[in-house]
Amino acid sequence: MTELAQDEKYIGIPRGMSYYEHYPFWYGFFNALGIKVILSDKTTKQTVSKGASLVVTETCLPIKIFIGHVVELLENGVKRIFVPSLQSIAPKIYNCSKIRGLPDLVRNVIKEDFELVEPTMDKSEKNQGFYELLKGSVKCFGITDFDTIRKASKVGWRLYNNFTTMMRNGIPYKEALRNALNGKVILKDDDNDYPINVALVAHGYDVLDDHACMKIFDKLKKMGVKVFSSWQLTDEQKIEGLNTLHQKMYWANELEMTGAAGHYLKDNTIDGLITVNSFGCGPDSLMIEKIIRKAKDFNKPILCLTIDEHTGEAGFVTRLEAFTDMLYRKKHIIQDPSKKKKTNAYAPSTNIIETAVKQ
Ligand code: SF4
Repeated sequence: MTELAQDEKYIGIPRGMSYYEHYPFWYGFFNALGIKVILSDKTTKQTVSKGASLVVTETCLPIKIFIGHVVELLENGVKRIFVPSLQSIAPKIYNCSKIRGLPDLVRNVIKEDFELVEPTMDKSEKNQGFYELLKGSVKCFGITDFDTIRKASKVGWRLYNNFTTMMRNGIPYKEALRNALNGKVILKDDDNDYPINVALVAHGYDVLDDHACMKIFDKLKKMGVKVFSSWQLTDEQKIEGLNTLHQKMYWANELEMTGAAGHYLKDNTIDGLITVNSFGCGPDSLMIEKIIRKAKDFNKPILCLTIDEHTGEAGFVTRLEAFTDMLYRKKHIIQDPSKKKKTNAYAPSTNIIETAVKQ
């Protein structure tokens, strides 16, 4: 187990689900209250196997990964684990049932003796807002004073805001996270030239986990693709994107999917869209269907990737390469019709793409 001084207050956080977007807040909040945060290690094949062996096959990949992280924390002797129940983020705007019932799922599939810290936030109900979530997170440590909790939340918000500011400026996820946790903000942009711009539409827990999504950002970058995502958009831009798709907000993660897609479909500098979702995800199957239909209206190429624990890297890369090759071809033809003959003879390959990036 991670070394802990006797009587030291600690909480284990599984590296999955909302971790990818909310960790800077919780890290700042718990630390400000003198509570040590113990984070599970990065996702591995074993993490996935451990989680998958405990839940029904149809469960989506990120939930399997999350369960695997809880198991690994327990294996490391971490017996107090934080699994918030995030029911709804605004009146009548709900998370999917697996996210809502995550603490129940964990409790029922892991037959071990441990303390589950499971505060609830349900903004569709009275008195179950964000402050109640915070109170519920530290009640087990005997912390109940409003002012103490409020001051700690300010520290959390500061780290979180630094993190989102960097993400909005296109700073790669790991760099933004590392700097935010160290109390720093860097805003330098990637000034390399990229021949192709693509919008990646997905949940953080699907594409920011290097194991689950096989470092998709790095792979696309090597292919000469600049990746844009929902993290670079403001809420206003995503709401406007929802309107573009004539979509009402129902799911809590609607903005990062349909909202971001709607925004990028209208953006002429974006050459194509890539969506990534987990096999068996109900909300995404509805949202992505809508996005595909609208992509046709906007004449925007779209690649839809579905991942699960059996997704092979070779097939994944082939599909990314085929899509980017097609974008290269399309762009050459549209950009320079006078050279159509020459363009037709153009045969994209990774080498060509790499050369293009270096220029
Ligand atoms: S929204 Fe989809 S991917 Fe996310 S937890 Fe629910 S079913 Fe799984």
